[in-house]
Amino acid sequence: DTAVVWFRRDLRVRDQPAFLAAAGAASRSLALFVLDPALLRPSGAARRTFLYRSLRALDEALGGRLLVVHGDPAEVVPAVADAADAASVHIAADFGPYGTGRDEAVEKSLADAGRELVRTGSPYAVAPGRVRKDDGSPFRVFTPFRRAWTEHGWRRPAETDASTVAWLDPAAVDGGPRAVGIPDDDPVDAGLPDAGEDAAHRQWTAFLADAVTTYGDDRNRPDKEGTSRMSVYLKYGAVHPRTLLADLASRRSTSAETYRTELAWREFYADILFQRPDSARANYDRAFDALPLASGREAEERFDAWREGRTGFPIVDAGMRQLREQAWMHNRLRMIVASFLVKDLHLPWWRGARHFMQLLVDGDLASNQHGWQWTAGSGTDPAPYFRIFNPVVQGERFDPDGDYVRRFVPELRGVAGKAVHQPWALPGGAPAGYPEPIVDHRVERQEALARYERVKAQR
Ligand code: FAD
Repeated sequence: DTAVVWFRRDLRVRDQPAFLAAAGAASRSLALFVLDPALLRPSGAARRTFLYRSLRALDEALGGRLLVVHGDPAEVVPAVADAADAASVHIAADFGPYGTGRDEAVEKSLADAGRELVRTGSPYAVAPGRVRKDDGSPFRVFTPFRRAWTEHGWRRPAETDASTVAWLDPAAVDGGPRAVGIPDDDPVDAGLPDAGEDAAHRQWTAFLADAVTTYGDDRNRPDKEGTSRMSVYLKYGAVHPRTLLADLASRRSTSAETYRTELAWREFYADILFQRPDSARANYDRAFDALPLASGREAEERFDAWREGRTGFPIVDAGMRQLREQAWMHNRLRMIVASFLVKDLHLPWWRGARHFMQLLVDGDLASNQHGWQWTAGSGTDPAPYFRIFNPVVQGERFDPDGDYVRRFVPELRGVAGKAVHQPWALPGGAPAGYPEPIVDHRVERQEALARYERVKAQR
């Protein structure tokens, strides 16, 4: 008898509860990954390439036994199960708007053939929908969610490795969808981190050995390597957050506590998106539908300047250029550039969010859309709309010597110290080749506040 293990956002062999379920259901399993055009198309080259590399690492861990097929999962997964005559298909549950519908469709066509879709675990320490208020309703505010999430607790990592399951050689399966193999990398300009489970553990071990002790102080400093850079590994499930939480459990420091809180944000946003799938596109707080948005040629030119990192505000430009160079951006910068797009340029958050999703290697719908909505004021726990980031002050506070700006904006490398945050104020003006500010922050701040009156009127 055979089972299918269908990998999605869990490209690893350690801490895989679905392996235990599959091994309990059948004597051998077929490892499957489906290249789904509906997900690949909007991913952007960085995420596609990172995915392919992660799949190569997984295939290697499985002894070359990963079957890769192409198509709509609702058709190809049942077809693979038919060909392998598998009674069950094992997955970690997905809670995103697309994944939920996809899995229901797969489950239905499997059931039509008398086969079962078995969900074991999820990409989260606590599955979305589980943490509830005493009256059973979902949380809308982070701090009480985090408290209840911590009280709920999570399982210990599952003790699995590649040998937990006896993997069937895909070549032994007759018929069914054609094996297409893992695609070649898409050309990508950005430098990407190493892919795969071993790379994830290397990164995590290095962070635990060193930066975790200073994380609480340094996580807001983009000029330092102060954060873990685990987001991309969490995105693809090269490591499960449960594993990270278990490693942190014995550490009582404030930094370890802060790190747990950051992981809780990831879980909170997944929970919110699960409750409100519409919030991937629409304002979570619908009063913000009344916010007047900029449009027209000037707005488009400003959007292009933002995307290309030539707004004339060094901290904003450095962030946007880091995004292009590394397919990643420091959290502080994500907040600064998002605030600039929404409150200085009056453009809709979803345009910025879409641009991020095209370039980020860790692009994750829940964290991204809600990170944007938080900054835009339309999300849960919003930063109050009227508290508008001043890009110069943000630069001086979080990049106090200007090192971060100089790293990503070569035109400003000749400017020493924090003066780099206001190149227009230099004795000879901004260095040649660096643009003038595209807007006057003081004027746009007033404009943002005036526009916000329309939102307030809705309440
Ligand atoms: P660390 O500081 O080491 O944090 C550890 C982990 O905690 C991260 O890997 C991540 O999983 C989680 N985390 C930290 N901060 C947040 C947060 N604010 N929200 C949710 N989870 C968090 N994160 C993504 O993973 N994908 C995205 O597409 C994404 N888009 C964002 C867009 C905006 C506008 C903002 C403000 C934030 C966004 N974030 C996103 C959250 C955060 O910026 C990144 O998770 C973080 O910068 C990743 O780097 P790191 O792993 O070194 O973080």
